[in-house]
Amino acid sequence: MQRRRPGRREIEEWSDLYGAAGEHAAWQAVEEAFRRDDLEAAHELALGLGAGAAGGWLGLYRSIEAEALTRRRSVRKTLEPGLELEYLDDEVGGLAGRIGLWVREASREAARRLGFDALPPLLVTILADEANTPWVPFRNGYCEPKTGFFKVCLPAYLVDDPRQFLSAVRHEVAHALCLDAAGGRMAAWLEEAVSMVIGDECDPRTPRRFATGRWRWLNPRRLEEAFAEDRETAEGREIVHRAYEQSGVLGTVLARRFGEAALGEVARRIGRTGFLKELAARLGGLGPEDPALRSVCGWGVRRLFREGWKWCLAQE
Ligand SMILES: [Zn+2]
Repeated sequence: MQRRRPGRREIEEWSDLYGAAGEHAAWQAVEEAFRRDDLEAAHELALGLGAGAAGGWLGLYRSIEAEALTRRRSVRKTLEPGLELEYLDDEVGGLAGRIGLWVREASREAARRLGFDALPPLLVTILADEANTPWVPFRNGYCEPKTGFFKVCLPAYLVDDPRQFLSAVRHEVAHALCLDAAGGRMAAWLEEAVSMVIGDECDPRTPRRFATGRWRWLNPRRLEEAFAEDRETAEGREIVHRAYEQSGVLGTVLARRFGEAALGEVARRIGRTGFLKELAARLGGLGPEDPALRSVCGWGVRRLFREGWKWCLAQE
């Protein structure tokens, strides 16, 4: 998962709602500290603002709490140059050696499958057990771009199930690779498509649900919006769950037709997409993934969505 940042329009709407002059700037200072991974400073600043006033920043507030709580008691271990593991000695210490091996294996596999020679600098953090509360967003883990590196946070319960743990690491490392290569310009639906494939998380029952109309097949804009749904309500979580699954179908169709490495190539191509090409795509209601997909696979975004839908029908 990758956290969605509020857009300018949302921020303006909240500012109107809460009448909070200057509050946005204050939250930006919190976010800057969070980006530096200076969690104590971020936590202190956020506490000063109060979670009640957080509005759309609540997800950030809770991630800061979980990460700061972990940082206070954690130890760090370098697994290889550019790859670090952070964990709580009293919670997973006995397993740290094994977890380190899993992290190395899964990260390398994600990079290899996506056709990357190297990983960007990564810190993998196993969050404190007490941070695993129902209100922490993205309970299966998330990937955050920090200043100069990427941070993958995983809930501690995953270490009890190696298969699930390896899958979660591959999923989040795929995010880090895409974020790095595409410069954060890849649409959420496509990033999740890549991560769902590399995490091997696609539910085989999904195509049938779309084919029978139980789940609605969304267009690119609606699918992108679905990822921004409120994950704190049951209804929102269901919308997000279906969005992941639809992205999984799209990623599967691309991987089967063009190979998994093509997914990594699309990310790299987005990173190299020039301003004018991106502008042209945006004027057409799409993002830089449209020209990137066209040049790597010969399919634009709309064609991909049609092929995904057809694939669901064919699986029925
Ligand atoms: Zn994800």
